[in-house]
Parts: sequence; structure tokens; C-alpha cells
Amino acid sequence: MIDSLLSLEKVSVEFRAQTSLFRSVPIYALNDISLNLTPGETMAIVGESGSGKTTLGRVCLRLLEPTHGKITFAGENVSKMSSKDLKKMRRRAQAIFQDPFSSIDPFMTVRQIVEEPLIIHGYKNQPNTITNRTEIVEWALEEVKLGPTKTMLDKYPHTLSGGQRQRVAIARAIVLNPELIIADEPVSMIDASSRLELLYLLSEIQARHNTTFLYITHDIATTRHFSNRIAIMYMGHIVELGSTSHVIDNPLHPYTQSLLEAVPEPNPMNRFKMRGSSGGELPSIVNPPTGCHFHPRCDYFKPGQCDQIAPLQVVVKPGHLTMCHLWEKPTTNPRLPRQNDT
Ligand code: SF4
Repeated sequence: MIDSLLSLEKVSVEFRAQTSLFRSVPIYALNDISLNLTPGETMAIVGESGSGKTTLGRVCLRLLEPTHGKITFAGENVSKMSSKDLKKMRRRAQAIFQDPFSSIDPFMTVRQIVEEPLIIHGYKNQPNTITNRTEIVEWALEEVKLGPTKTMLDKYPHTLSGGQRQRVAIARAIVLNPELIIADEPVSMIDASSRLELLYLLSEIQARHNTTFLYITHDIATTRHFSNRIAIMYMGHIVELGSTSHVIDNPLHPYTQSLLEAVPEPNPMNRFKMRGSSGGELPSIVNPPTGCHFHPRCDYFKPGQCDQIAPLQVVVKPGHLTMCHLWEKPTTNPRLPRQNDT
């Protein structure tokens, strides 16, 4: 039994941005990211648009090359895999993308869309055997509760609703029975009424097949339904990481606190209550704020410290870490030395 299915060690992704005709500056979409996913767990990656969450998902599948650091899948270094090994790895690690309107081909039927990964990975269609492709496709459609399956097989995406299209995309991701699924905002383009249903569907699939999920979302409210741990991202850094209950019930980082404050309040009596969510936009990644990148939006900002010194990751409780000066221990000890101190 392996302890870690996917592990990232100090992974950074650097791009160059042209600021003038002769000058370009480095920009970091990911900065020293370290994570470990154990088999069967669901980790949510939460942050605003531009925080680096999608880049993180793409790097895990090597759809994007990291500039620094090491990514390991089932003990093998993903960055050093040959194209043959990478294809084998992708048989075990699949993705669900955000937009079901563009991630599935409108000219293919449901059967062709879900069958395509089986064809790419060399499964022959042998009726009455274990590799009967039609039966596997029907099984995948049943898993995502898209029925009646016989009727669905020959439908085209334009005849389906957004929720049904996303179920087709999920069926395509699970048809190879992968160990890892990277779900990039799988419900953000779906009607609010179907979102929870799809999240419950994903958690049922996760429980039935012990699939590991990396669930990328900007909506922290949905993570309680579908994650064991949460990593909060801000401008390419993980600013808080811990179990879902710890992070949601006892957020340590001011950014996590403001994300939770921004969750809509279901009680109409509280609609006029002032909220503490941080205002402003995400600063430009080309010219990020000095020190702590969150300082222009932070209510706890300490001049001279937060705008000068980048905070370090601090483990506050076992398994719960954050990146904020508020939680760092003082580096100098103000106690006067005793005579017998050496
Ligand atoms: Fe706020 Fe300072 Fe903590 Fe950054 S380091 S989150 S500015 S208190």
C-alpha cells in the first residue's frame, strides 16, 4: 500500500511577462507548492480566479511543465516520464474540466465521447468479454446516473442540459476506472439546483471506487460536502492547509476568513449584517505586492512587517498550517540571559 498517490515537492511554474519592448519579468503562477494526496482522499484547492489553482491541476497531469520541483505519481517521477509512461499514467489519472460546453466535442455522440479514452488506451471491442466497450460505456453512464442508458448513447451534446453534459464528462473521466481524478471547477457552470446533486454524485463515486480527487473550486462553501482536506491558494502560494473541519470551523489565515465571510448568508434576518470580507481585487501578478502578497487587502496588516517580509509556512496544529506573520513565533527571545546560561 502506497502512502502517497500524488506528491508535489516545492513545485514552481514561472512564465515571463513582456513589460516593454526589451524587458521581460518573471511571474510565478505557482510558488514552492508542496502537497501530498493519500489514496482515497479528496483535497479541495480553493482560491479566487488567478490564484493558480488550475495551473496546479494541469501541472499534476503534466499538461504543463513545472519550472522547478518534483511531482511524483504512485512513486514515479512525473517530470521524467517518457511519453509511453506518461500515457500509462494518464490511464490512471483523469480530469474533469470546468466547461461542459467546450470540453466535449459537439460532433460526437455520448457513446463516442465516453468510449474515446478506451480506444486511445487500446481496449479492443470484444463482445461477451471483459473488454466489451459498449458495456463499459453503459456502466459509466449508469455510474453517473445518466439514463436510460440505451437512449442516451446516441444523443448529441446539444440535446443535453448543462448538468447532463457534465455527467457525460464525468463518465468519460471514470470510464478507465482511474485512481486519481483532477476535477477543475466541475460544478461552477452548472445551475445552482444541480450543483449539490453533482457533488454528491462525485462523493458516491469516490466512496464506491476509493478514487482520489483533487477538487479545484473558488467556492469554499461546497468543500464541506466534498473534501477531507482544504488547501487555500493566493497568488501562487498555499496560504493555509488543513482538514476541512479545521479550516472551515477555525480558519487561521485572514484570506481564508474573508472567503468564509463572503459565503452567502441563508438567514434573511442577517442580510443587513456587516461582513468582514476583504475588498479589492487580486493584485497584478506581474507586479505583486512586496512582503505578504495579501497585505493590501488584509485587516490585520502590520506596517513594517507585512509589507516588507514574506511570511513563512507555520504548522499551528498537527496537519494545519498557514502562511501569516500572526502565527509565527517571535524569532528573538526577549528574556534576559541568566548568569549560568551559556
Ligand atoms: Fe495579513 Fe500580515 Fe498575515 Fe499577510 S502576513 S495575512 S498582511 S497579517
